[in-house]
Amino acid sequence: MQGWIEDIHARARTRLGSGHVASYIPALARQDPERLGIAVCTNAGELYAAGDAEIPFSIQSIAKVLLLTLALRTHGEGLWERVGLNPSGMPFNSLAQLEAERGKPRNPFINAGAIVVTDRLVSAFATPPKHLRDVARRLSGNDAILIDDGVLASEWQHRSRNAAAAYLMKAFGNLDNEVDEVLHTYFSCCALAMSCKDLAIALSFLAAGGQAQAMDERFVSPGLTRRINSIMSTCGLYDAAGDFAYRVGLPAKSGVGGGIVAVVPGRMTICAWSPALDESGNSVAAQYALELFAEEFDQMPPSG
Ligand code: GLU
Repeated sequence: MQGWIEDIHARARTRLGSGHVASYIPALARQDPERLGIAVCTNAGELYAAGDAEIPFSIQSIAKVLLLTLALRTHGEGLWERVGLNPSGMPFNSLAQLEAERGKPRNPFINAGAIVVTDRLVSAFATPPKHLRDVARRLSGNDAILIDDGVLASEWQHRSRNAAAAYLMKAFGNLDNEVDEVLHTYFSCCALAMSCKDLAIALSFLAAGGQAQAMDERFVSPGLTRRINSIMSTCGLYDAAGDFAYRVGLPAKSGVGGGIVAVVPGRMTICAWSPALDESGNSVAAQYALELFAEEFDQMPPSG
């Protein structure tokens, strides 16, 4: 498998040079677009990696998977009174639909949806940002994981659109806590800096029926795992989720930091990262790496 991952890495490198690094969060604009990392964590606990797989990057919207998982653990099915379950067909930070649908976001993977989910966590925990960081540390087995203060400050400074969504939801009665506290918690989680290896290990529970690799325990139930994977399949890649589903066919979640985590249920979790994005906000080279991975998946040795 190691040779196979290195081959995919080499082929995906041909896509470097296409796309643009996210600039609407200025701290992200400083990322090197030539970076490309891939890491795979199998359910047997093997780790394979190629390229820049150990460099921490801003996980951004991949955080929405963590937020959703924790909110479902603490609030159960009641969460769906606050947020929907269907693709939005709109950009991830759109406000138009939110107004028309009276402050109930379409799904937990658009910004408004993740902000509502975060509001549930702010209600549940005493120090939500620290709690989220600690969960990321425990899930990945890496105590060095940090919230990148520079990214957090940059997101806070440029929060107008997310603040508009949050205030709109607050006006519709769909946010219990103060907007500033909810946004601060949401940005803190998006600003977690994790590597491909960290993320492949941390989200390995999604491939293993909820069994967390580094924690040596069941993090969520198999049923919940299946449901989270389903939402990743339908809503995980912004408004390009359908294109990605056709080309790759795996549950996945991307972030504007350039990372994408994909899940092969029952087998493994993969994280690919490269900062330059296409017009939908998904990493060009990481998507291609996952496409190559999916194409060659049938040739993988059964033990993989
Ligand atoms: N923190 C980013 C925002 O709220 C997340 C964007 C993303 O990765 O989609 O705009």
